[in-house]
Amino acid sequence: MKPAKDNCNVAIVGAGPAGIACGYALAKAGVDAVVFERGKYPGAKNMFGGIFFSNAMNRILPNFYDEAPIERFVAKRRYSMLVDNSEIAFGFEPEEFKKLPHNNSFIVKRSLFDKWFATKAEEQGAVVINNITIKDFLWDGDKVIGVISGPGSENTFLADVVVCAEGANSILSQKSGLRDKLGPTKRSIAVKEVIKLPRSVIEDRFGLSEKQGAAYEYFGSSVQGLLGNGFIYTNMDSLSVGIGFSLSDFMEKKGRESPNDILEDFKNHPSVEPLIKGGSTIEYMAHMIPSDSFSYLPNMYRDGLLLVGDAAGLLNTSFFHEGVNLAMASGLYAAETIIEARSKRDFTSKTLYQYQEKLNNSFVMQDLKNCKNFLSFLRSHKNLINGYPRLFNEILVDYFSVSEKSKREIKRGIFNKVRKNVKLTRMVTDMWGAWRSLI
Ligand SMILES: Cc1cc2nc3c(=O)[nH]c(=O)nc-3n(C[C@H](O)[C@H](O)[C@H](O)COP(=O)(O)OP(=O)(O)OC[C@H]3O[C@@H](n4cnc5c(N)ncnc54)[C@H](O)[C@@H]3O)c2cc1C
Repeated sequence: MKPAKDNCNVAIVGAGPAGIACGYALAKAGVDAVVFERGKYPGAKNMFGGIFFSNAMNRILPNFYDEAPIERFVAKRRYSMLVDNSEIAFGFEPEEFKKLPHNNSFIVKRSLFDKWFATKAEEQGAVVINNITIKDFLWDGDKVIGVISGPGSENTFLADVVVCAEGANSILSQKSGLRDKLGPTKRSIAVKEVIKLPRSVIEDRFGLSEKQGAAYEYFGSSVQGLLGNGFIYTNMDSLSVGIGFSLSDFMEKKGRESPNDILEDFKNHPSVEPLIKGGSTIEYMAHMIPSDSFSYLPNMYRDGLLLVGDAAGLLNTSFFHEGVNLAMASGLYAAETIIEARSKRDFTSKTLYQYQEKLNNSFVMQDLKNCKNFLSFLRSHKNLINGYPRLFNEILVDYFSVSEKSKREIKRGIFNKVRKNVKLTRMVTDMWGAWRSLI
């Protein structure tokens, strides 16, 4: 690792996917980029569920899967609704996902993946400095001209542009004046355990072979009816088991259980427990997740500064749970913009606004716009999380019950039950609304 410099073209705060993608692209173009990371190494402090969506990575290192530390590719996806101790599930395992590039969906451990990705950026010439926390920006009037890691000039780093890739805690991005103070409606909370199990046990339980992996998502009772979900992703010889839910929803119901209690309840659900049985917990983590709605995303540029990745709220909180690919794409657009700004020798918002335009024209903003009503719709239609699944479960139980009742009698009973519980017109409107805002 090269020594720290007190001057660089670009100072990047945070060696997550957004910061490293940006550093990689800049260094490749011959720009002097320094990435500051507070962890012992990139990835040391980073947590996510487990699916690395690689569409943006394909632009950086198209054959990354030949050398990146990948646990498995996602061969099998399953979505399930837990209703008390019951489960209604829908799974798919298409042949297409089993062929390269595996639907751009790989299961990775961030502690290994981020570290590897940072070495690739260093090979291009980026400088990654670990164990350093950036405390503030350096200002010249309204313009950001560097970063500060502590008192004294030895902890001050000047730069033409600063890229803030600090992730979801967003302490610096709030200081930048681009973001309002973060409230509980703009963040979700997640807790996750890594549970060790022998490889053969995982493959038997999830029906997998070789490098195939499974991604199971659980809604409804998985998080006690809160706005969120549980998940299980298969690593090579461990499982990532976790839950995430809206902080504001949790706070409204506070006094009940802690996030850890909710995780324990999820693990003890009769549909989950057999999958993790006999495993030992080797890691426990808690983290924030951005849940800024598209309509409340911050401005992402000002003179001398760009916000990328989670720091800018770029996370698709709908069913897709995509974050790393949005982070990498934003890092790449930031790098492209800075390269253009260098050719004009103009690092003010007059040139840096192009970053926002590039994002707006890409899948990043288009996808966020598409699911902009996801959380608010669910917040105002809690029956989609609790009421309808319960009714649907009862209908399935009635319909498939074997008894002396004739099938005709059963169907009539179901019809009466539905009529008693919901207005048909309301149900149709809810389903249509759900289709438009959730999918
Ligand atoms: C439980 C959970 C599950 C998730 N599951 C998925 C998933 O399956 N797939 C997916 O695509 N996304 C998922 N996400 C979202 C994904 O993790 C993020 O969108 C992504 O990591 C954002 O990348 P980033 O580079 O912006 O930020 P981060 O990955 O958070 O990286 C920020 C980096 O900045 C460093 N840093 C912070 N402050 C400072 C400072 N002041 N000075 C120096 N360094 C600093 C941190 O140590 C860190 O290394 C999940 C998130 C969580 C919490």
